[in-house]
Amino acid sequence: MRPGWESVPGSFPLKSLRLLGTLRSEDAPEIWEEYHPHGTHSWSPDAPIAIGFYPYNRCDVYECIDCSRKYLRYGEYGGYYIDERIRPLNFKLIVQI
Ligand SMILES: [Zn+2]
Repeated sequence: MRPGWESVPGSFPLKSLRLLGTLRSEDAPEIWEEYHPHGTHSWSPDAPIAIGFYPYNRCDVYECIDCSRKYLRYGEYGGYYIDERIRPLNFKLIVQI
């Protein structure tokens, strides 16, 4: 699996994922801004996982029950459908501003 965001591949074993928690906060203001201080963009493999910024403020955190890898997931609204996206949770990329 790539280190950046991608649409959940049809082959991905979603049934192996167990919900651990969420990065969403009910009382937080709606923030659509992304955080890319070093020239990354949403799809970059090294884009910071910026807690509180989009799309991380929409994410739930999952763990694979087979291999314990952690993943972030959220639904990107694309007009007529929701694109389910997934990204491996790399703790080294987490930034809290
Ligand atoms: Zn796994």
